[in-house]
Amino acid sequence: MSQGKKVRDILIKHFKNSAVKIIVSPNGVEVHLPEGYDESKVKEVINKYEPWIERKLRELSELVELSKQLEVVNRSVEELRQLAKSFADQAAREVLSISNPCKIVVRDMSRKWASLSERGVLTINKLACYLPDSLVKYVIYHEICHFLEKKHNKRYWSCVEKTIPNYKELESKLRAYEVKLKTKEALTNLRVLKS
Ligand SMILES: [Zn+2]
Repeated sequence: MSQGKKVRDILIKHFKNSAVKIIVSPNGVEVHLPEGYDESKVKEVINKYEPWIERKLRELSELVELSKQLEVVNRSVEELRQLAKSFADQAAREVLSISNPCKIVVRDMSRKWASLSERGVLTINKLACYLPDSLVKYVIYHEICHFLEKKHNKRYWSCVEKTIPNYKELESKLRAYEVKLKTKEALTNLRVLKS
C-alpha cells in the first residue's frame, strides 16, 4: 500500500485488543489496528504521523549503519550475572553509598534491557550477554540510579551523569545493539496513537 506522495509499503495487522499503533522497525512500517477498525481511516492516520514516521526511519537507518561497526561479545548467562553483580556492587557504593541491595536475575525480556522491582530485584535482559562491558555497566548504573528517582526526569539524569558522564552516547549505542541483536522484531520505535 502506498500513501500520499511517499511510496512505501505498510503492513496492516489486526489484533483483538490492540490500540492503534504505528511500528517502525528495520523490517519496515507496520500499523496495528483493533479488530473491526475501518481500514479506510488508515491513510488519515499515516498522513498525520508522516513526519514522525520519516524521522524514525531516518534515525533507524543511522542506527543500522552504526550497528554494522559494533562488536558482539559472547558471555554465558552466569558470566553476565557475575559481571552485572560486580557493577551493581560498585554502583551501590558510588551512587547510594550503601552495599548492594539488589538480587540480580538474568532472563529474556522483550522490550527492555533491564528493570528494577519494588523489592530490589534487578532483572537484566539475556541479550546483554552480547554487550561490551561498558554497556553492561551503564545498564546496571541506570537501574541503580532508579533507587533515587523512578522517573526519567532532570533529577534522574543528573544522577546518572555524575557517574556515567557519556550516558547519551551509550544510550544510542544501546539502541544500535538492539537493532543488531533483534533483527527480526526490533521494536525500536513504538507509539500508541490516540485517534
Ligand atoms: Zn530507566
